[in-house]
Amino acid sequence: MNGFDVIIIGGGPAGCAMALDLNLRGYEVALCDQAKFPRDKVCGEFISPGADPILEQLGVLDAIEALSPQRLKGVAISSYESQELEIDYPVSRETDLRPSSLSVPRCQLDALFLERVQNAGVKIFQQHKVTGFVFDQDCVVGVQGWDENKTPFTLKAKLVVDAGGRNALSLKKFSLKRQAQGRSRIAFAAHWQGVEGLNDYCHMHVSQPGYTGISAVGKSQANVVLVVDASAYGDETVETFYHRVLMKNSRRRKILLNGERLEPVRSVESLGFGVKPVSCGGLVLVGDAMGFIDPFTGEGIYLSLRSSQIAAEVIHAGFQKSDFSREFLAGYNKKRHEEFSGKFMLSRALQWLIYNKYFCDAVMKSLSVNQNLAETLAGVIGDIRPVREIVAGGFLAPLFVGCFSKNRRQ
Ligand SMILES: Cc1cc2nc3c(=O)[nH]c(=O)nc-3n(C[C@H](O)[C@H](O)[C@H](O)COP(=O)(O)OP(=O)(O)OC[C@H]3O[C@@H](n4cnc5c(N)ncnc54)[C@H](O)[C@@H]3O)c2cc1C
Repeated sequence: MNGFDVIIIGGGPAGCAMALDLNLRGYEVALCDQAKFPRDKVCGEFISPGADPILEQLGVLDAIEALSPQRLKGVAISSYESQELEIDYPVSRETDLRPSSLSVPRCQLDALFLERVQNAGVKIFQQHKVTGFVFDQDCVVGVQGWDENKTPFTLKAKLVVDAGGRNALSLKKFSLKRQAQGRSRIAFAAHWQGVEGLNDYCHMHVSQPGYTGISAVGKSQANVVLVVDASAYGDETVETFYHRVLMKNSRRRKILLNGERLEPVRSVESLGFGVKPVSCGGLVLVGDAMGFIDPFTGEGIYLSLRSSQIAAEVIHAGFQKSDFSREFLAGYNKKRHEEFSGKFMLSRALQWLIYNKYFCDAVMKSLSVNQNLAETLAGVIGDIRPVREIVAGGFLAPLFVGCFSKNRRQ
């Protein structure tokens, strides 16, 4: 068969969520990924608790739970080697329970997700790299590319979804990336064993030249991710640099001293970017392809799943009206902007804050004496509380007044 309702480029969380959603709505879907799964990915590997209901709706949460993943109850954060502050996610208003975040190796998570998509009846093309789009006038109606044998292929559909991540084809073909703001960042990651003192928190240690996220993941392993200013990385090997910077911070040293790295260090450019609107019909971007925020707040997977949900609604409406024009599909951009713009602003503010020792220390002190403020922030970052609770809920005033008055007293 070579005529689908929808073709999806990319089998990461965004592409799989889109495939399952459209499949549940009864559409004929094909998904192409250039990789052969299981494939790995540099990631903090913890998923905002706000993602649980989406994974449940898509019918994958039970299968993820069957992997016996770690469940983290919040973050333990230190500012420039200060005492760690443990912040739990706040009680859910729906269930009256405290939610937790899944911590699962991406290699397992993404392979499981793709398997569920395949079992649902979506046609999967692994090791199929999409290199171009097929057009009918100004509408995308298919994709072209190469399979693992370098044999060209063409697939036709009424609509194409690009879920190709931060290096998605559409970003390059249509020059959609907005100039990245701020300094360039680079991330290094590896799994370890024998890491001590990891309780049920993701440990975030902020200090120069960047920060780390360390959390238990899988069976008796830890994922250790370091994100730094790219300018800090010079002539050293990746391994030497990674270990030197990790061990420079006394908090990390304490946790990692008896640990052992289990694999080569992987590195990836990690600078946030925005995306311009698509200039043709028949094409929708989801997940990281639609913009990437610094991973400090660790919510890319949630945003990918949620952006696919929002887009699937609009695509479904497009099928009902037989309208895949750029104007109609722009409804998705509008909805996505309404839902995520506050979050993106918060992420940018936090990034600025953590690279400034004075404010980072001050805000940490303020959070340490106000549990309600701390949990509200964790709830917003964990996608279980709306961002307006920080902006409009009287949050910022006590946070800053508290931190400055405390500092004055010292
Ligand atoms: C250092 C770092 C730490 C992070 N930590 C966290 C965290 O703790 N929690 C969290 O929620 N998020 C985190 N993120 C973000 C998270 O990894 C991403 O938001 C998420 O992977 C986005 O999913 P996606 O499906 O959009 O893209 P991806 O997961 O990147 O999937 C894209 C897929 O598309 C395929 N593809 C690309 N181009 C083509 C093509 N032309 N043809 C065919 N296939 C193609 C790729 O092979 C890939 O499988 C982190 C990111 C970084 C860089």
